Amino acid sequence: MAAALAAAEAGAQVTLLERRPKPGKKLLATGNGRCNLAHRGEPVYFGDAAFARKVFTVCPPESVMAQLDTWGLPLYTDPEGRVYPATQQASSVLSLLTARMAERGVRLVTDADVEAVTGEEGRWTVRTADGRAFSAERLILATGGLAGGGLGNRPQDYALAEGLGHHLTPTFGGLAPLEAELGKFRRLSGLRLPARVRLLCDGKWVAASSGEVLFTDYGVSGICVMQLARDAQECLERGRSPELELDFSPVYFPEERVYAREAEPAADAYGRTAALLFERERRFGRAAMLTGLVPDALAALCPVKDVRETAAFLTGLRLRVKGVRPMQYAQVTCGGIDTAEIEPATMASRLRPGLHFAGEVVNVDGDCGGYNLQFAFATGLIAGRSAAE
Ligand SMILES: Cc1cc2nc3c(=O)[nH]c(=O)nc-3n(C[C@H](O)[C@H](O)[C@H](O)COP(=O)(O)OP(=O)(O)OC[C@H]3O[C@@H](n4cnc5c(N)ncnc54)[C@H](O)[C@@H]3O)c2cc1C
Repeated sequence: MAAALAAAEAGAQVTLLERRPKPGKKLLATGNGRCNLAHRGEPVYFGDAAFARKVFTVCPPESVMAQLDTWGLPLYTDPEGRVYPATQQASSVLSLLTARMAERGVRLVTDADVEAVTGEEGRWTVRTADGRAFSAERLILATGGLAGGGLGNRPQDYALAEGLGHHLTPTFGGLAPLEAELGKFRRLSGLRLPARVRLLCDGKWVAASSGEVLFTDYGVSGICVMQLARDAQECLERGRSPELELDFSPVYFPEERVYAREAEPAADAYGRTAALLFERERRFGRAAMLTGLVPDALAALCPVKDVRETAAFLTGLRLRVKGVRPMQYAQVTCGGIDTAEIEPATMASRLRPGLHFAGEVVNVDGDCGGYNLQFAFATGLIAGRSAAE
């Protein structure tokens, strides 16, 4: 939609083909319906992160936000830098984009499931499953990714680009919950707790995050856990053994609930926790040392024979990661159309003149926090403007 609008504003006659009855089904589900569409601060991207950096030198996040403002969407930034529509309603973003498309003369054709693209610059032919054919001088492929189950797209949508000679890097779910060996911790299912989380691969620190951890029947979820899915998957693919290490000290030191994907948790968490527990043991006795400090369900699993052992448990609980939840539970697709075949300044194919790409279909995925929509908007604006030249 961003690409269609940018191309129309640059003077092109634009047709947008959408296979569903309406565009924006996934957009409506983003940010729990609030649509976290950009992020103020350092861009955090994976896959081809260097490609993402080049994209943002051409169309920085501020330009994306300025364009949305120009289209009439007031924005709100939360204290962590996450940007939402001021209404905090994803439906506002969708209704604004569709209204502007109608005003700019974009022809929106819904129920148009594209199954074949043939031709070359100046005379592309696009065929839909119900036998319709559309012709165009330039083409933008913005078919999205596989993540999100019924919200996502299908493997055959990548085949449109592959049929034109492009290559697909392996795809897997990013920003997804983790399956873990829970053993007795299965009893915690349903419990949400603030924690610092470290991902270890063969015992070595790989990545860290912090926030609310949700225990489930299959393992653990929560944004801070989902952010580690990409690293866990890479560890598993190398035949290594990933583990999560949970530090619950933010439960009783709440001022430390900082978001930090890369920062290693403070090494003194154990020492401070042990000191706190010794103090509580002195005041309340060992049996009641944890009462009111950690949720009862967790306290029931704590070893309390030795205070140091309790502190080690609360700051270093380890769970073996068995896998990443399947694609339908993921928020983004890692992998996609090989960015080596795309020019970041124009999002044009290096293989097929007159073909452009935009959005999650390419091999770039962002962290949680508005980065994926920001990339989709930025690449859409670039592709739309350059396709209209
Ligand atoms: C539950 C969930 C929550 C999320 N929350 C956030 C968030 O808060 N912030 C954030 O930045 N990101 C979020 N994301 C990720 C974000 O939604 C995507 O990265 C983004 O929507 C990608 O935009 P896109 O335009 O590339 O693809 P999409 O939004 O998937 O749009 C692609 C469109 O192409 C259509 N299409 C595909 N194939 C064909 C075809 N063959 N013929 C015709 N039409 C076709 C699809 O129907 C779809 O409408 C979330 C994802 C999920 C699943």
